[in-house]
Amino acid sequence: MLKHVCFGLLLLCGCKAKQNTPSFSTDGSVFLQMDLPSPNSIRTGSGAPGIKYWQQQVDHDIVASLDVDTNMLYGSQTVTYTNNSPDTLTFLWFQLEQNVLRKDSIRSRERKPAEENYAGVRVSKLQVNGKDATLHDYGTLARIDFEGDVKSGEVAIITMDWNFPVSVDASIRMGYDDAYKHGPVWEFAQWIPVPCVYDDVYGWNTLPYIGRGEFYTNFGDYNVAITVPSDHLVFASGVLTNPSGVLTSDEQQRLKEAMKTKAVVKIRTAKEVGSIDGGTDKTWKFSGNNIRTFAWATSASYIWDAASVEINDINGNKKRVLCQGAYPEETADVWDEAVSYVQHSIKYYSETLYPYPWPQMSVVRGKAGGMEYPMIVYCRGSSHESLFNVTDHEVGHDWFPMIVNTDERRHAWMDEGFNTFVNHYSLEQFYGDRPHKPDVSKYNASKFKNDLKAINTPPDFLKSRGHLSYRKPGYGMRFLREEIMGEERFDAAFKEYVSRWAFKSPRPADFYRTMEDASGMDLQWFFRGFFEETMQLDQAIESVTQTNDGLRVTLLNLEDWVCPVDLVITCEDDSVHSYSLPVTIWAWSMRYTRTFELPSQARSVTIDPNNAYPDINVTNNAWYFH
Ligand SMILES: [Zn+2]
Repeated sequence: MLKHVCFGLLLLCGCKAKQNTPSFSTDGSVFLQMDLPSPNSIRTGSGAPGIKYWQQQVDHDIVASLDVDTNMLYGSQTVTYTNNSPDTLTFLWFQLEQNVLRKDSIRSRERKPAEENYAGVRVSKLQVNGKDATLHDYGTLARIDFEGDVKSGEVAIITMDWNFPVSVDASIRMGYDDAYKHGPVWEFAQWIPVPCVYDDVYGWNTLPYIGRGEFYTNFGDYNVAITVPSDHLVFASGVLTNPSGVLTSDEQQRLKEAMKTKAVVKIRTAKEVGSIDGGTDKTWKFSGNNIRTFAWATSASYIWDAASVEINDINGNKKRVLCQGAYPEETADVWDEAVSYVQHSIKYYSETLYPYPWPQMSVVRGKAGGMEYPMIVYCRGSSHESLFNVTDHEVGHDWFPMIVNTDERRHAWMDEGFNTFVNHYSLEQFYGDRPHKPDVSKYNASKFKNDLKAINTPPDFLKSRGHLSYRKPGYGMRFLREEIMGEERFDAAFKEYVSRWAFKSPRPADFYRTMEDASGMDLQWFFRGFFEETMQLDQAIESVTQTNDGLRVTLLNLEDWVCPVDLVITCEDDSVHSYSLPVTIWAWSMRYTRTFELPSQARSVTIDPNNAYPDINVTNNAWYFH
C-alpha cells in the first residue's frame, strides 16, 4: 500500500494547467513593504494621527421649510467654516448633491436622466464674510470665489439662501413616498449645500456625486429649524430642543418616560395619527453636535415608538440612548419591533467597537431602502428579518463612517466592508441559535475569479460594488481575524484603529499601519494582495510520497497571492495531525516540500479543511490514499 500513492484526478488537472510555468522560484515581492505615503507629523508611521493632525470644523445654522403643496424645500443657512489647516484658502468648494438629478450631472449624462427638466438647487444671497460672493455651478460641485482669503486659523462665515424641488419619482438615498393614507413620507439627506472636505492628503476633495460613492464630509455642530405642517412628526440627526413647541403634553410626558425604560413607549399611537389638525405649520428645532452631516424625515403618517438602552460612555459612566422608530400604520405589523432592533445594535456596537457618542438614534420608514446618517437611519424593511438586518447594517454605519470619518467616494470598503464585517457578529449575537443568513458567509472565490478590480478602487469605478465594497472586504476582515491574526490580536488592533481615528479621517495607509502597529504582525502581504491589488490564491497539493523518513508532502502556490497553509493529515490509526504553516514558506519558492513524521500510514492530506480561504480552485486541496 505504501508504494501505491494516488493523486486525485482533479489535482492533476490543476498541475497541468500550470505546466508552462517550469520554475516556482519567486522574488518574494509580495512580501515587500507597500508603497505607502511617507509618514509625517499629521499621519504617523504607526498609523495614528500625529501631533499636527488637523481637520476643518464646519458648523451649520439652518432654517428650512417644506411646502407640501408644491413639494419645494426652502432653506437659509449660515456656515461657520474654521480653517484649521496650515494653508490659506482663496476659494471654497461646495457640494450641491441634489443636482445629481439635474440633466447636466455626470449621473444623468451617463444614462437617461432620472427626471426630465429637474431644476436642482438654486442658491441666492450668497455671501462670504458679509460680502457678495460668486458661485460657479459645476453640477454636484460648486466653486465659491470671494473677496480676500481665509488664512490658517481664521473663520469664514458663508451665508446663503437656497431651494430645490423634491423629486416625487427619483430618489437617491432620500425621497418622497406617497403610499400611506395619512400622508406621504419625506426623507431628506445630502440636501444642504455643504463645503467639500479640505484635508492634508488631497487638499480640496472634489470627487463629484455620481450616486455610487456616498459622501465625505466635515465634522461640525448643527442647529436646524424645520417648518412642516402641524400634524407632522420630524425625526432628525439631532435632539429636539423645543418639545413644548411641537408636541402635545402627553407626547412630551411619554418621551420622558421612554428615556427611563427599555420597554417601548408609544409616543404617538396609531389612533392619534390623523386626529391632529394639520392646517397650520410648526417649527421643529434640533441640535446635533460633532456630526458629519444632518438628515431628517417627516410625515403626518408616522406612528412614533421609543425606548432607551443603557450603555457605558467613553469614560465608563452609564448613559441611556434614546432609540426611536417611526412608521406608517400600514407597516406596523413589522415595524412595531423596530425600536428593539435599534436597542440591540446601539448596545452591541457600543460594547464591541466604541461607545455610541450621541444621545439618540431613530429608524424611520420611507422611500430609501437603507441609508445611514448620524442619529437617523432610513429603512424599508418589510419583514422582521429584513428590517432587523438592514437596521443593524445602517445603525452600524454610525461607527463607520459617522464616527470614523472615511472618504466614501474613494474608499467605500472602509465603511461598507468594515460595517458588513461587524454586522456579521452582531447578527450572530442577535439570532443566537435561530436560523438566519450570515452576513459574511463562506466565500466562493472561484465565482469571482474574473472580477479583477482591486477592493481599494473608488466606488464610482466599480460595477460590482456589492461584491467589492461590501461582501469581499467584509469576508476579508473576517478571514484576517479568524484565520490570519487570531481574534485577540485582531480585536485589540481593530479597536485601536477605531479609537485612534474616532472623529477623525483615516486613509487606508492609516488602517494598515495601525493594524500592524497594534498587533505586532507583518501584514503587508495581506493588505497588498487582498485590498490593494487583484491577486488571487490557489494553494494545491502537488505530491504526497511515503519515504523512510516519513510522509513527504509537496505544496504549490499556483497564483500570485500567498497565505499561510492550514494542513491536516489523517492517519490509518485515526489520529489527526494539524499544521499551521506560516506564510513565509512562500518567501523564495512557490513550491514547498516537507516530510512529516507520523505514527502510522497516512489516509488523507488536506489543505484548508474548513474551506475558509479565498482559494479560487479547491479541487486541488485534498489527497486521499486509496
Ligand atoms: Zn451600507
